[in-house]
Amino acid sequence: MVTDTYRHKGLRKKLVELLKEKGIKNADVLNAIGNVPRHVFFDETFIGKAYEDIAFPIGAGQTISRPHTVAFQTELLKLKRDEKVLEIGTGCGYQTMVLIEMGAKVYTIERQKELYDRTHKFLPGIGYNAKFIYGDGYKGLPLFAPFDKIIITAGAPFIPNDLLSQLKVGGLMVIPIGDKVQTMTLLEKKSLKHFEKTEFGEFKFVPLLERKEWGE
Ligand code: SAH
Repeated sequence: MVTDTYRHKGLRKKLVELLKEKGIKNADVLNAIGNVPRHVFFDETFIGKAYEDIAFPIGAGQTISRPHTVAFQTELLKLKRDEKVLEIGTGCGYQTMVLIEMGAKVYTIERQKELYDRTHKFLPGIGYNAKFIYGDGYKGLPLFAPFDKIIITAGAPFIPNDLLSQLKVGGLMVIPIGDKVQTMTLLEKKSLKHFEKTEFGEFKFVPLLERKEWGE
């Protein structure tokens, strides 16, 4: 059971106001951020940090994304209830929870065993169910393709071809592309071979690692 106090709810309300000021408009996205308990990822001593608009270390050398980044990417997805969404980079699962909260059927891939082990037990335990996969995000999930939407939550050096082919025609993919900083990029699949690309601002993510870089 998640402990969700008036203090937590109050802090979340303030966070939602801040995200509105920063330009997030989609009511479903703001509602989801307003409902998802982000403090479950924080030690009691850091509880004040849980609803600030900052990224934060979550162990295993990874970070929980900034709420604004999560909201921004989610808004670009134009999610409808019951859509099938592939997420690359589960991490602690905060973005996953926001997608689930919006009614999506989520498939999420993580390449780090420790994080996968932790998150695929923790999220269902607090009532957030998704299909968790331990594997390589570059390969996507051909068995469950095609997807209505695909979201990559790590900085990609290039757009993985396998992911493009696993997107439905008419579907959207949001992917931060770049090395040290990334350009948020939205791809709309117009036909089997044709994609329309729109670029947004710059963001900072941990890298989407290729298998050769995993160091296993
Ligand atoms: N979505 C998270 C943030 C994740 S950080 C949140 O809501 O806070 C990015 C994640 O991508 C890390 O957990 C990292 O281990 C993972 N990752 C990096 N390369 C990957 C790959 N090739 N396949 C799958 N996951 C990968």
